Amino acid sequence: MTTTTHAIAVPSPGAPLVPTTIERRDLRPDDVLIDIRYAGICHSDIHQAQEDWGEAIFPMVPGHEIAGVVAAAGPEVTKYRLGDRVGVGCMVDSCGECEYCRAGTEQFCVKGNVQTYNGVGFDGENTYGGYSRQIVVKEGFVCRIPAGIDLDVAAPLLCAGITTYSPLRKWGAGPGKKVAVIGLGGLGHMAVKLAVAMGAEVTVLSQSLKKQEDGLRLGAKDYFATSDESTFEALRGRFDLILNTVSAKLPVDSYLGLLRVGGAMVNVGAPGEPLAYNAFSLLGGNKVLAGSMIGGIAETQEMLDFCAEHGIGAEIETISAGQVNEAYERVSNSDVRYRFVIDTATIEA
Ligand code: NAP
Ligand code: ZN
Repeated sequence: MTTTTHAIAVPSPGAPLVPTTIERRDLRPDDVLIDIRYAGICHSDIHQAQEDWGEAIFPMVPGHEIAGVVAAAGPEVTKYRLGDRVGVGCMVDSCGECEYCRAGTEQFCVKGNVQTYNGVGFDGENTYGGYSRQIVVKEGFVCRIPAGIDLDVAAPLLCAGITTYSPLRKWGAGPGKKVAVIGLGGLGHMAVKLAVAMGAEVTVLSQSLKKQEDGLRLGAKDYFATSDESTFEALRGRFDLILNTVSAKLPVDSYLGLLRVGGAMVNVGAPGEPLAYNAFSLLGGNKVLAGSMIGGIAETQEMLDFCAEHGIGAEIETISAGQVNEAYERVSNSDVRYRFVIDTATIEA
């Protein structure tokens, strides 16, 4: 016995999304059933729907920025009760035993974390994500959305929030630090808000000055257009940390030139194409080029609590199920301010 729920699916690589129904498993003892209220659209959804990262599983129900309310709980669930406001991000399971799981970095589970969608559970079943009305998730992969953050603006925190929070923390964003954020999209705008709340001095590096007013309103001190060659001269050697949130290939050497001696550039953007750099761009200045993938469950909860404490949510545009294909187009064209969130009540067969 399973539960049938309405969803929106990508039937085949790159095809438009269509309404459908899917089955959710019966509750296991440590599962919760979540009535999804909002699901954010991450650029990773588009990468996977288009197979930018390689072969994917179809039909695909994307969505790993999930906010909702607990509708039922298995008998061994201890953390959540009916009516609790909860979120689910990019993972729904991991082995729980390897050194990385034990260290709270389930995303690096040696058996592979189970992705919220476009994944296969340890039971062999395909996973389906948040563009749906309900989902069943093991309680250990569910986070609590603190009072004070509305569910719609909370949804994007489950991926865009944690993916930027984790490297900002790890690489020391804080008072006295100059942080640049490349790309003012879903991840980028969260990075600006979070780095500002951590006390860093933040600069946005965007393709144009179109969104400058927004960037400054979000707390950035400076805003530069990367289409203007003089930007790279003006900012040479300025930053302690650069967070690259861009979904496409970038001229990495130009950006490494903006780091101070010992500075770090961290990539969270995940284009399908390889990024290239010249070894001397790192050697001259003992610079670091690093990567970061989402964050563990405990750190995701820490990020949500941090956001509640600092009054941070995503800047969103709420859409209905029928507008999802148009939203995909707009995200692909960098035309998003700053996250599309699907009102899942509008998902119908
Ligand atoms: P998004 O909302 O589309 O934002 C990306 C931004 O990058 C755009 O708004 C644009 O900002 C800039 N950009 C786009 N194309 C560009 C180009 N050709 N040249 C220069 N800049 C360009 O996407 P997102 O949801 O924030 O995701 C960003 C990337 O992070 C994606 O590749 C996604 O898959 C990846 N991601 C990684 C993780 C992880 O764990 N590491 C997690 C989530 C997402 P401007 O208009 O300001 O230039
Ligand atoms: Zn994402």
